[in-house]
Amino acid sequence: MPRIVAGDLPDPVAPVIVWFRRDLRTSDNPALCEALHSGRPVLPLYILEEDAPRPLTGAARWWLHHSLKALSRDIESLGSRLTLRRGRAADVLKALAVETGARTIVWNRRYERQETGKDCSITSALVAEGLQVEAFDGNLLFSPKDVRNRAGEPFQVFTSFWRCCLQTHPAPDRPRPRPERLPPPPAAASDRLTDWALLPRQPDWAAGIATAWTPGEDSARARLADFLEDSFCCYDRRRDHPDQDATSRLSPHLAFGEISPRQIWHTARMAGAHPSEGFLRQLGWREFSHHTLYHFPHMATTPLRAEFARFPWRDDPQAWQAFVRGRTGYPIVDAGMRALWETGWLHNRVRMIVASFLVKDLMIPWQKGEAWFWDTLVDADLANNACSWQWVAGCGLDSAPYFRIFNPTLQGEKFDPLGVYVRRWVPELAGLPDQAIHRPWEASDSILAKAGVQLGRTYPRPIVDHDQARRRALSAYEGVKSGTPVKAGPGTKREESPEPLLPDLL
Ligand SMILES: Cc1cc2nc3c(=O)[nH]c(=O)nc-3n(C[C@H](O)[C@H](O)[C@H](O)COP(=O)(O)OP(=O)(O)OC[C@H]3O[C@@H](n4cnc5c(N)ncnc54)[C@H](O)[C@@H]3O)c2cc1C
Repeated sequence: MPRIVAGDLPDPVAPVIVWFRRDLRTSDNPALCEALHSGRPVLPLYILEEDAPRPLTGAARWWLHHSLKALSRDIESLGSRLTLRRGRAADVLKALAVETGARTIVWNRRYERQETGKDCSITSALVAEGLQVEAFDGNLLFSPKDVRNRAGEPFQVFTSFWRCCLQTHPAPDRPRPRPERLPPPPAAASDRLTDWALLPRQPDWAAGIATAWTPGEDSARARLADFLEDSFCCYDRRRDHPDQDATSRLSPHLAFGEISPRQIWHTARMAGAHPSEGFLRQLGWREFSHHTLYHFPHMATTPLRAEFARFPWRDDPQAWQAFVRGRTGYPIVDAGMRALWETGWLHNRVRMIVASFLVKDLMIPWQKGEAWFWDTLVDADLANNACSWQWVAGCGLDSAPYFRIFNPTLQGEKFDPLGVYVRRWVPELAGLPDQAIHRPWEASDSILAKAGVQLGRTYPRPIVDHDQARRRALSAYEGVKSGTPVKAGPGTKREESPEPLLPDLL
């Protein structure tokens, strides 16, 4: 890791700009530590990038607002100030260097190729102005460019990738401590966070999200501590059950870098006599997603298995509306889509169930689901989202095979056997007995009447018959596999919407 040494720098009192990106924390922040180590004034900066390759929308903007507020408070408590600027990153950094006399800019690396490409051109633009740039690793356990198979190629299978990380690479570095103080920053004008309009205006669709979450580094640390105390020991046994609060819910904190994977890794390892390998393995999936996107940057939009380019996706606006509104007639799918809308988050098992329903039962393109998740998730993360959607759709690396089609009724019965999750999010079904909660269309008239359910009125009948939909999907897949030209139906192209999708739902 490069070190910034005061004597190497052109002007010993010139400040160092620390550009915060998806690392909104002061502890275990290598760029911040190295800036402090230089002994110079430090200018903490966040840029709302107007040229971001995939700008945040919807729920993630809500999170960003509150996360920046928390970071700003934290930096002030350490004796400094967070400067906010908006614009093209290279222009903002150049202008700020001129205004403050800064000669050095530091940041922690991002790993998405679209971002790394941009960081390269920003670096060139800054170096051309005589500025010094240093980048550090802080947001992954293993750098994607370092992990290769014996042939020097990127891994395509998770198990071998993770084995290689654990067995042939040095263990992740210990996290760095939070600084005790930051030196006073040089004077620099800052935007006002409220002027960035990251929060929804009217109607305020974020009330449920605000009830469910507290963004920020302190909250991330508290969440990790609670998880290790309450659920870590039985994570492997309970993690697939959305009716139980058994996973860490650290994903939005990780996505915004309010906690580092190294902090989680080392704290979890020290937490118990029997650390949950399953939990650490999930962190491994996060590494694998980033590894995959780094080496296959087109993964964000294009199927990694080329034959899926011929898949006859359907355009079905009515089914799409039923899906996003949680009105498909399949209780576990509807519960998930409503929970996502209300809280900005979804349990991993339910993410898999709803994604499978969209791409297999409805045959709607995974890119459309990926875009909806991007807009509605507080943990929206390009690598995890695209990799997981491709995994479910069967067109990614090391994917679930396409012919493995989840039956939403059986999945509901297996992972929410008492209907706790469904009753919470689909209250109009709450009065049904457990045996009917995941298949209301099979309930007798008297059971429905007793529960106050009128199918087709208070709750929809299934919008597709799962068995028929399954056969349709398998036959489309056979066509793709055999190379038989399949006519792509309308709607095979992703509908790009310049507007955030969220307000449309209200
Ligand atoms: C269709 C689909 C879309 C998804 N989109 C996203 C997304 O945009 N952002 C996101 O962070 N995760 C995404 N995931 C992965 C996973 O569902 C979430 O990370 C997980 O549910 C977060 O809950 P948790 O923090 O309680 O996880 P835990 O089970 O406590 O796991 C700890 C951490 O490991 C990582 N992790 C867990 N499962 C996975 C996984 N399958 N793939 C990659 N990393 C994982 C997350 O960072 C998580 O916070 C998606 C999964 C699917 C099936």
